[in-house]
Amino acid sequence: MRFDFALPTEIVFGPGVLAQLGERAASLGQRAFLVTGGGSLEKQGVVTRVETMMREHGVSSNRFASRGEPDTESVDRAARAARGEGSDLVIGLGGGSALDTAKAVACLLANRGESLDYIEVVGRGQPIAKPSLPFIAIPSTGGTGSETTKNAVLTHRATRTKASLRSPHMMARLALVDPELSLSVPPAITAATGLDALTQLIEPYTSRRAQPMIDALVLGAMVHAARALPRAFATPGDLAARSQMMYASLISGVALAHAGLGAAHAFSGPLGGSFPVPHGFACAAVLPGVMETNLRRAAEAGVTEAVRRYADVARAMGAPSASDDVATAHSGIERVRGLCAHLQVPGLAAFGMTVADVPDLAQRSRLTSSMRANPVDLSDDDLESILLGALGDHASH
Ligand code: NAD
Repeated sequence: MRFDFALPTEIVFGPGVLAQLGERAASLGQRAFLVTGGGSLEKQGVVTRVETMMREHGVSSNRFASRGEPDTESVDRAARAARGEGSDLVIGLGGGSALDTAKAVACLLANRGESLDYIEVVGRGQPIAKPSLPFIAIPSTGGTGSETTKNAVLTHRATRTKASLRSPHMMARLALVDPELSLSVPPAITAATGLDALTQLIEPYTSRRAQPMIDALVLGAMVHAARALPRAFATPGDLAARSQMMYASLISGVALAHAGLGAAHAFSGPLGGSFPVPHGFACAAVLPGVMETNLRRAAEAGVTEAVRRYADVARAMGAPSASDDVATAHSGIERVRGLCAHLQVPGLAAFGMTVADVPDLAQRSRLTSSMRANPVDLSDDDLESILLGALGDHASH
């Protein structure tokens, strides 16, 4: 047994905890750069409420609206704005896009330069030497778990891929996780973000880098997610279900940061960089195929640990134990497939992907760190078959 575990982020969780923001922010800075998301929280008056709370505690704020999933250019633009304002505190309020934008800005303000200086794979590879400016994460989707991860995922348009700024220095100082903020998330976004969280629980549990503290956390969170996601999808105002999804998402961030991911996330980078597919749907479209292929390869190669872990996932998803671990694991995969169908996950063809894109996407997915954590090695044929299986009904050449 060998692992390390660090969670420097203070987590304050529960309906209504947003009310603590003013006091908390005042203990960390005086000029906040407030990154918000796609507009729905503005319309509901949440952003104005946040600004008022901070003003009442002597903290001024400059609002920056992030639009869509962040890319290197939008983040550099935001960082320039924050520098111009003399910000000493960064707050992300919204889904993973707003949180990652804010997290990257807090990093760039302390380290100077631009995102391409530091970003993995496509950047200049400079180390992120200095701790970020204080960063408060307030998630509104349940979600990406970005409030407890040390990376910010940015699209690099030139190479059509997504890559991360990553450093332990980038962790949020405080995560204010208020499930009430997610009550307004519409069903399709509930499905995409919830399936992202579920994938971020399953992959760290079956990862080559799995570790016991994360195992303990993710199995419980998976039970919550499996039960709550269909409820939050059917009844957006179900606060208990929303709380369970916010919890599952929070744990999924802790899990991926400590135990890595797997092939589903390896595909999601090139997919998200090439097509306008929301991150959660990219993960969900390939997840059942990845689980099935991994299970088959693990069983063939006698990797019993991976097979046993897929059987544990199945039981956490509510599947009964069958005659052996392989059979149990299969029924779990059927549950995941059924959940994706119930939540109306579109095939990837719906986002413009065609059969002709498959070889290139498969090759690019190989280069990602997530692929190295996959429990078994997959062949080119395996990768291409999973992608073909994820195209859906409207696939074309
Ligand atoms: P998102 O932040 O892009 O939001 C999706 C949509 O939901 C937007 O239109 C947004 O306006 C809307 N929305 C958000 N909150 C809402 C609310 N309360 N009510 C109504 N609408 C609301 O989606 P996301 O899935 O949360 O984040 C995706 C991004 O997170 C991707 O860029 C992905 O790569 C990244 N991500 C990062 C990490 C990490 O560890 N840093 C992990 C997973 C994913």
